[in-house]
Amino acid sequence: MSLEMHPTRWGDPARAAALPDTARGLVELVFPVTDRRVADGPVLLPAHDLSDLVLRDLAAVVGPEHVLTDDESRRLRTRGKSTPDLLRARAGDLSDAPDAVVRPSNHDEVQALLEVAVRHRVAVVPFGGGTSVVGGLVARRDGYAGVVSLDLVRMKGLLAVDPVSMTATLEPGLRGPEAEALLAEHGLTLGHFPQSFEFASIGGFAATRSSGQSSAGYGRFDALVDGLVVATPAGPIELGHAPASAAGPDLRQVFLGSEGAYGVITAVTVRVRARPEQKVYDGWRWPSFDAGADAMRTLAQAQLLPTVLRLSDENETALNLVDPDSIGGSSSGGCLMIAGFEGTPAAVSARRAAVSAVLEDLGAETSGEEPGRKWVAGRFDAPYLRDSMLDAGVLVETLETATYWSRLRRTYDAVSSALTETLGEPAMVLCHVSHVYETGASLYFTVAAPEGDDALGRWLGAKRAAMDAIVATGATITHHHAVGTDHQPWLEDEIGAVGVEVLRAVKRAVDPSGVMNPGVLVP
Ligand SMILES: Cc1cc2nc3c(=O)[nH]c(=O)nc-3n(C[C@H](O)[C@H](O)[C@H](O)COP(=O)(O)OP(=O)(O)OC[C@H]3O[C@@H](n4cnc5c(N)ncnc54)[C@H](O)[C@@H]3O)c2cc1C
Repeated sequence: MSLEMHPTRWGDPARAAALPDTARGLVELVFPVTDRRVADGPVLLPAHDLSDLVLRDLAAVVGPEHVLTDDESRRLRTRGKSTPDLLRARAGDLSDAPDAVVRPSNHDEVQALLEVAVRHRVAVVPFGGGTSVVGGLVARRDGYAGVVSLDLVRMKGLLAVDPVSMTATLEPGLRGPEAEALLAEHGLTLGHFPQSFEFASIGGFAATRSSGQSSAGYGRFDALVDGLVVATPAGPIELGHAPASAAGPDLRQVFLGSEGAYGVITAVTVRVRARPEQKVYDGWRWPSFDAGADAMRTLAQAQLLPTVLRLSDENETALNLVDPDSIGGSSSGGCLMIAGFEGTPAAVSARRAAVSAVLEDLGAETSGEEPGRKWVAGRFDAPYLRDSMLDAGVLVETLETATYWSRLRRTYDAVSSALTETLGEPAMVLCHVSHVYETGASLYFTVAAPEGDDALGRWLGAKRAAMDAIVATGATITHHHAVGTDHQPWLEDEIGAVGVEVLRAVKRAVDPSGVMNPGVLVP
């Protein structure tokens, strides 16, 4: 599988496909289908802006073969993979392309590149997998001599394994499957499987505080991090020297979620687990979303969570269940839950029995293992389907938040209404819960609507309304996608004016000349 993604689509270029006929038939029942598939011909980028002197200084650090200014390299590192990013790329808008791509091979080279950037006032955008969905790869250009994409693709080592303490130190450029393959050689797993797993990187997971599909069992990424090494323009910083510490505030938390605005994460020490010997995923059916969510809360508060726990609302359940070959038949309604168990056979069997007993007691009906098998088989496919839907003139995008259990229904209703009202008929809004805590849960919304004349404008309007609804109901502006540039207008609502000033103060300390990802995260 290629790790260079398609420039205007998600993922492996070889897997780009038109909407299958059966699915197309289904879509046509709801939306007008208009073919818009873009031809990916050669694209002309704006000429790069960097002087020969800057290019020479960059090349002196990494070697001239690792300073790339050709159109294709720059195009492949332009923006991320949100639907607005894809719509702009499909429209041929490459105005945010970096001037050059530089590829360091180790921490010292990263540190030396930052010195060059400061000397010449060049903006630096750390680039991991390029899967950002919040505009995290779009640096401000004004006032800079140019923009460089600092691609961590050559930093893919497993630097250390401590099988006694169960930690591993990974370089930031490792993509999800590469990190898992290296850990597997030691019988270990990280257990971090976001939907972007196949392309996103270790450094990106840390820089965005990512959360994966098995977060109920393994924890979100920031909870797995024990130590970090960061190259900042002010110098290197190494954090995390013991499993717990009272040595002042935990500075690791300052760099987790820092989205390249404070420096480049060059090594991440993570907690690892033994690879599971057995995996089982059960399907359960609930009469309503509220009943399923209450059951999730019961499990979380009883500290009886499976490894994977997800609940689709009525709309998402109905859509997942529709068999395009038998359109017209009715789905049996309700809400589908997947409860997955991973570990030794004894641990799986004990936890599965305990969880199943609670779910049955609370009124769930078992659907057997088939829904779980289907979910596992398709768990990384949705982004490819988004491209096929865009090809068919259907706008598809997602957004996420998290809130306390006592407010979950309020936020769910407010965001659903904001999206439905701004997109208008026949928009579809689907939702699921896939990350749960003792005190609350995330809500992940997917929308589908006819593209119309101005798909980008329509989505940005809907997203604004949804973000306002999130803030109005006291939920977080992002549970795991980060802030980037897209969520920045709502950041002060969440952390307050003093909070914003603290972020700026840290930036002044570690990046006094402001070359690190300017405009991203820190307002
Ligand atoms: C289809 C799809 C599905 C997704 N599913 C999930 C999901 O299930 N869970 C989830 O959490 N997220 C998900 N995401 C969002 C995205 O994959 C995550 O934010 C991911 O952590 C980004 O990793 P990356 O390596 O691609 O980072 P990039 O996109 O390359 O960068 C993201 C940000 O981090 C900065 N950065 C990257 N590497 C470093 C580094 N080494 N040091 C400092 N800064 C750095 C960049 O400058 C940028 O601001 C999804 C995205 C897509 C497109």
